[in-house]
Amino acid sequence: MQQAVYDAIVIGAGPAGASCAVWLAHMGFSPLVIESSGRAGGLSASNPFEDTWNVTAPGLTGEEVAARIKLSLDSARVPVLLNSHVTRIERERGAGGKDQFKVYFGADLPLCARYVVIASGVEPRKPPEWEQDHYENVLVGPGKHVANYEFALKDVAILGGGDNAFENALFLKERGAKSVHIYARTLRCQRHWMKFLNESDVTTGAYTFDPETRQVNGRAYDAVLILYGFRARLQGMEDLGLDCNELGYVRTDFETTQTNLPGIYAIGEVTHRQHPCVVTSMADGVVAAKAIQKQLEQGDA
Ligand SMILES: Cc1cc2nc3c(=O)[nH]c(=O)nc-3n(C[C@H](O)[C@H](O)[C@H](O)COP(=O)(O)OP(=O)(O)OC[C@H]3O[C@@H](n4cnc5c(N)ncnc54)[C@H](O)[C@@H]3O)c2cc1C
Repeated sequence: MQQAVYDAIVIGAGPAGASCAVWLAHMGFSPLVIESSGRAGGLSASNPFEDTWNVTAPGLTGEEVAARIKLSLDSARVPVLLNSHVTRIERERGAGGKDQFKVYFGADLPLCARYVVIASGVEPRKPPEWEQDHYENVLVGPGKHVANYEFALKDVAILGGGDNAFENALFLKERGAKSVHIYARTLRCQRHWMKFLNESDVTTGAYTFDPETRQVNGRAYDAVLILYGFRARLQGMEDLGLDCNELGYVRTDFETTQTNLPGIYAIGEVTHRQHPCVVTSMADGVVAAKAIQKQLEQGDA
């Protein structure tokens, strides 16, 4: 029996991937979404705070935004494979001599599609010298795990010099932390944050950090929060030959979101082509869907 060939396989059910798949479905095509985690919504699903940046959906938390993303996928009847991590993509010659792609995930047989859309987003950066996956009371990246952590009466160090570091320092103080010290090689944050903190609480320049003992510059902390920014999630796609910029984000054509590889598109934060947020990621999804529609309707001429 011949295997079904989807019009597009979208990797990632975050705002970018979901938007692309929903648009494709509404335009009468057959998208499939493959998502490595157990839920749709991407990074939004781990944001318990109100998302005040989307002017069409006031009053919703990131988690509620993620729930609406799931609702949109369900109403457009987009099939979504959860807990399925894409590990390899291969180009092959399909029926009619046209290129198509085999997308591998887990131990299952690969699925086939005419187009692939990479919407795999980003993940928090870890220190390069990191040896274990996890260190006790060392939290990596912002999100729900930080919101749920008990900081009251604790001495906390935050490593990182971006807006996130300062925003979280204030949040931790409000949550009753005994002290919050920021360590940053360089400051990249908006300057207005400085007025909320004592100058002595911010150390700039090189510093040492031992994750086992949670010592920063030799001083031990009860908890350490690492906010080194994000990096593109491209595990399993390293051998494709994707053209990436010096920071590791996928380069795409601005008009279509196509990568340097014909038939493979990339959208959302994995490309960092616009300011990273839910709205720009969703916009990227629309651009990719319309570009794929054009290709499919023109018979890939
Ligand atoms: C704590 C926090 C708060 C935020 N608050 C806001 C806010 O208030 N407003 C706002 O606009 N933005 C906010 N953002 C940013 C916003 O969440 C992101 O810009 C947006 O989610 C990016 O969408 P995306 O689809 O490109 O990527 P992501 O949301 O990262 O989604 C990518 C998806 O791809 C999946 N994936 C990755 N690799 C694979 C693979 N190999 N196989 C299968 N699936 C894979 C991931 O599991 C993930 O679900 C926040 C981010 C964080 C971390």
